Amino acid sequence: MKISDEVYALDSTKGNYVYLILAEEIILIDTGLPKNGENILNDLKSMDINPHDINHILITHDDMDHVGSLALLEKASGAKILASKEDIPYILGDINRHVIKRILNYIIKLKKPENINSYPEDGMIGNIKVIYTPGHTLGHVCLLYKDIMFVGDLFRTKNGEIAMGPSFANWNNSILKESIVKIDEYDFKWICPAHGEPIKRDNHLKDFINNLK
Ligand SMILES: [Zn+2]
Repeated sequence: MKISDEVYALDSTKGNYVYLILAEEIILIDTGLPKNGENILNDLKSMDINPHDINHILITHDDMDHVGSLALLEKASGAKILASKEDIPYILGDINRHVIKRILNYIIKLKKPENINSYPEDGMIGNIKVIYTPGHTLGHVCLLYKDIMFVGDLFRTKNGEIAMGPSFANWNNSILKESIVKIDEYDFKWICPAHGEPIKRDNHLKDFINNLK
């Protein structure tokens, strides 16, 4: 699905979107579930993109539906991987996730990436801005590119509206709400969540925040 001339939601990841930025650099945002990896490579092939041309893989947070195909895509692309310094130990399995996510980790063993880097202190990857938005996880980030905000699991969308994800899956619900308010300070037109469909910002974010209070 095309969001703009440079931004696509990869069709095979519908409902758990991986996004592609096709600009001076080629960038993947998140990597889906373990089962998504081969299909992501097929999506890229159908767009005439050689995986080796991917420069960066940017991770919004450490959950399995976002880093599930990270090792596979790292191997296929050789891209530089970046995630928040707070979430990297969870991605590497050095710290156990909480409650239900810990159980999932026992059931599904993820391959770990070989190399993973923290987002730079200035929060800029080329002209993508990394915005620290903890709450869903300790180190969750949103990524702003031009007029598009990639919100990861800060919230989802449902029937064209913003909706909360299940609260039991969040690390800290009140910090999550603060992060949603923080995002509203930025200038952008499109909201691209992992779960649900991309929507135009319009008044959706304002209305959602007003209902949070
Ligand atoms: Zn998710």
